[in-house]
Amino acid sequence: MKLAKRMANLGTETAFEVLARAKALEAEGRDVIHLEIGEPDFDTPSNVVEAGARAMRSGFTHYTPSAGMPVLREAIALDVSRTRGIPVHADEVVVCPGAKPIMFFSVLALVDEGDEVVYPNPGFPIYESMIRFVGAKPVPVRLPEEKDFRLDVDGLIASLTPRTRLVILNSPQNPTGGVLETSDLDRIAKAVQGLPECWVLSDEIYRRILYAPGEHPSIAARAGMRERTIVLDGFSKSFAMTGWRLGYGVMPKDLAAHVSRLMTNSNSCTATFTQVAGVEALQGDQASVEKMVGEFSKRRDAIVKGLNSVKGFRCRTPLGAFYVFPNVTGTGKGSKPLQDLLLQEVGVACLAGTSFGANGEGYLRFSYANSLERIEAAVERMRKLLGAA
Ligand code: PLP
Repeated sequence: MKLAKRMANLGTETAFEVLARAKALEAEGRDVIHLEIGEPDFDTPSNVVEAGARAMRSGFTHYTPSAGMPVLREAIALDVSRTRGIPVHADEVVVCPGAKPIMFFSVLALVDEGDEVVYPNPGFPIYESMIRFVGAKPVPVRLPEEKDFRLDVDGLIASLTPRTRLVILNSPQNPTGGVLETSDLDRIAKAVQGLPECWVLSDEIYRRILYAPGEHPSIAARAGMRERTIVLDGFSKSFAMTGWRLGYGVMPKDLAAHVSRLMTNSNSCTATFTQVAGVEALQGDQASVEKMVGEFSKRRDAIVKGLNSVKGFRCRTPLGAFYVFPNVTGTGKGSKPLQDLLLQEVGVACLAGTSFGANGEGYLRFSYANSLERIEAAVERMRKLLGAA
């Protein structure tokens, strides 16, 4: 088959490939413990499910404006204003089927061939995929383990050039659980403002899965940053709504009009009943979100302790999201061979650090979106295979 040349530059997300392999093993009768996929194992809160079902029965089954239903855009604007401490108007919000399209659309709308994009590596694989797809130059920034995977801010600032068109930030971070501090954001904001045409895409999808009290700070709230920041957020992680496909971007109104045009060209709009459910998620009872984060916190402690008891593993305690990123160099095995070995030999599905970029070599990512019992069983299996520390 002759494909268009640009397809050679398009990457992927290997979590879905590992999941498929794990499912194939299960079909052969093997017991696999799933610690590979990045989705909460909790049910969508029942008030949200009810709102979605009611919406379908009440006729919310037709197109909406491409940028989203006014009622949801307003609810998002209110929520973002409150949580980030910045005034946001509904016409600065674009609703999408999941938050992922905001990555694609931001890069398509702002980045030309030959431009540079600074992004975290290891990081969510779709960033690098999008950067390469449009023919831009990916400029990776490290996340040092010894600093609990806080992005290397000095490295980021040193990598900015007049060609830098976009800086991608993600905090709390996938795959490391690293969290940026207000002082980091202040420094990045100052440096970015020294460049006339540089934007920031701030991926805040794990904002509510934070193990310290208080709100996660946003770079959009730093002086002078509103007009050059796209805040990416959504419902997948906070409300266990991965399959509903509901996310959004908050950006200056002029850019929102162009991103809406990309929505018109691709999806037309986001599913209507999903949007109605999104209003309930934001405005209804928040107890289930708090309960979920409390549960994740217990699992985090258990998995960190467990992984540190496996020979050759060294694991920091992450500050946010629901992933751990142990250093596995002590096993003497590469990330990918170890990922394959764990799945094949003991039925533990996880991801090689290299699934998140070249700087992930020497690490594995485990998602702790699974029960405490299964997490403990996975640790036991790995200890049997690799030995106890
Ligand atoms: N951003 C990060 C860092 C993620 O890990 C994910 C999903 O795994 C997303 C964005 C996309 O979320 P959604 O399911 O809403 O498209």
